[in-house]
Amino acid sequence: MPDCIFCQIIERKTPSKIVFEDEQVMAIEDINPQAPVHLLIVPKKHIASLDDATPQEQTLLGHLLLVSKNIARERKIHTSGYRLLTNHGRGAGQSVFHIHFHLLGGRPMHWPPG
Ligand code: 5GP
Ligand code: ZN
Repeated sequence: MPDCIFCQIIERKTPSKIVFEDEQVMAIEDINPQAPVHLLIVPKKHIASLDDATPQEQTLLGHLLLVSKNIARERKIHTSGYRLLTNHGRGAGQSVFHIHFHLLGGRPMHWPPG
């Protein structure tokens, strides 16, 4: 997707701080962090949002969760607690329409979220 900022980052046409990469997934530092740890776990395949995922993506989505868990452990936020979330649609705050999970930690996480 040429106009997609995350596709551009994945193709290394736009710089970003990459913290993890494998064949299917890239994890980057959020450009506007909302917590001491704020990473974005992004599949390399362009899927606009969770609502666009199909059963074909079942393994990929499971992989994203396990990669997120491993990164949380590496960052040592698994003991203090962390939040993993995806926003679907503008009403929920989605601004980049390439599915991604936010991994937030390093400070107390309040509930309910805003
Ligand atoms: P959303 O609002 O779609 O749930 O999350 C998009 C996230 O992407 C936001 O937290 C925003 O700060 C981040 N973001 C937007 N553009 C860029 C960029 O060019 N590079 C990086 N690393 N993060 C970005
Ligand atoms: Zn994309």
